[in-house]
Amino acid sequence: MNSNKEHKAGFVSIIGKPNVGKSTLMNQLVGERLSIITSKAQTTRHRIMGIISGDDFQVVYSDTPGILKPEYELHQQMMKFVSASIEDADLLLFVADLYEKHDEALLQRLKSTKQPIIFILNKIDLAKGSQVEDKLKYWLEAFKPAATLKISALTGENVPELFSLILESLPVHPAYFPKYELTDKPEKFFVEEIIREKIFINYKQEIPYSSQVVVESFKEDDKIIRIRAEIFVERRSQKGILIGKNGSMLKKVGIAAREDLEKFFQKQIHLETFVKIADDWRKKERQIKNFGY
Ligand code: GDP
Ligand code: MG
Repeated sequence: MNSNKEHKAGFVSIIGKPNVGKSTLMNQLVGERLSIITSKAQTTRHRIMGIISGDDFQVVYSDTPGILKPEYELHQQMMKFVSASIEDADLLLFVADLYEKHDEALLQRLKSTKQPIIFILNKIDLAKGSQVEDKLKYWLEAFKPAATLKISALTGENVPELFSLILESLPVHPAYFPKYELTDKPEKFFVEEIIREKIFINYKQEIPYSSQVVVESFKEDDKIIRIRAEIFVERRSQKGILIGKNGSMLKKVGIAAREDLEKFFQKQIHLETFVKIADDWRKKERQIKNFGY
């Protein structure tokens, strides 16, 4: 640990149209296991996709709501999603591929943002002739990002350079998430995130914000992962709502979470959930530990 070095940390949003290579890039930046590719339903405005920490940095990558919508809805949806992801991010990675045309309204929105934008031209491994130069020229005539990089998310070309640029662009800030836990047990963190997401989808306002998910045990063998998670609520009435009639609601949450977890870990999952009422001090401690809200 070098105490003279300033610590950098921040939220990085990856934006761009479907199919330009955002998920592939995430995998290159963070590693396959940590990039959650889950359902299309969006609950929180940011979905944390991956966190990567070192002694003097922490980058929190987030994906933004999917924009796989019918053509007529695409534009409106895109604008909404861009606005939401711009709001809380420290840095934007705007990804385009060789084939895409720019969208005037989207560029206008990007021009009015305070955060730096790194423009990324992806899929250069497929380029022929002067295609890369032509495309860069085309984009840079349309808007002025803080930095520009041509990469191949597939082959990894220029991805280390991109990572250096990201670190340079982040603000000086302490880590947002406990480093030890994440490097030691990233699985636990992502299981909690996935269950939390399902609670957001299935219940009204009060419940999601009063709940804390804690993975109590995570046991993996060749064939199956056995997970035991506790959901803490503040009051008895909330416990009842969370569980639902004959356990129906909790079951729904459990099934949805298990489906995502199986996709994420590529393994069969056995998930047990328990609802508990947390007393105040315990809850406070967990809130501090869990960050985010
Ligand atoms: P997303 O919708 O923006 O998340 O895009 P994906 O990451 O899912 O990628 C869409 C498709 O483009 C996939 O078939 C990827 O394999 C492919 N792809 C992504 N990056 C590259 C790249 O740098 N080169 C090539 N040749 N294909 C890529
Ligand atoms: Mg994707």
